[in-house]
Amino acid sequence: MILIGLGANIPSEKGGPEVTLEAALAVLNLRRDIEVVQRSRWYRTSAVGLTDQPDFVNGIAEISTRLGPLELLSVLLDLEAEFGRERRERWGPRVLDLDIVDFDGLVADLDRDGLTLHLPHPRAAERGFVLQPLLDIAPDWRHPTSGEKGSDLLKKLDPTQKVDVL
Ligand code: ATP
Ligand code: CA
Ligand code: CA
Repeated sequence: MILIGLGANIPSEKGGPEVTLEAALAVLNLRRDIEVVQRSRWYRTSAVGLTDQPDFVNGIAEISTRLGPLELLSVLLDLEAEFGRERRERWGPRVLDLDIVDFDGLVADLDRDGLTLHLPHPRAAERGFVLQPLLDIAPDWRHPTSGEKGSDLLKKLDPTQKVDVL
């Protein structure tokens, strides 16, 4: 399955994070080449990495598409830009973040035309805000590289990573 991680923690021109994420899913689903098949609930999560910033809203969507992985990444990055994403500091606040968490189990490091894509997403296994919503829609999901179950990975995480249903 193809899983997209969605996140936001500052308002976009559409509205607050939840409104932005809903709007992003709607735009993706309107494309002829992408169908949103399933989506998780939205979660409120505390920022990791750079912690001094507003809480995030995060979720996961399963899509189906005939696009290849780099083509999909390019669509997602364009959509972030359309929603007003500005890249400043790494892991800083953002109006919209769209990551490819899993692309049909593909394990690859792709590089083309200045685009870089690591699959599966390299930090998925250590993030409660990815694993918790992922389990909503794919309870049997296994990490493509390690083969570990998502539920087991989640159990191993530090319980102070706060992930609450919105
Ligand atoms: P993180 O990747 O830790 O979640 P981030 O989402 O804040 O951090 P960005 O600034 O949004 O990082 O992305 C930086 C670059 O990461 C993108 O331009 C993209 O080329 C690259 N990238 C590599 N692998 C992936 C992936 N699986 N999904 C999305 N982007 C990826
Ligand atoms: Ca991210
Ligand atoms: Ca990203």
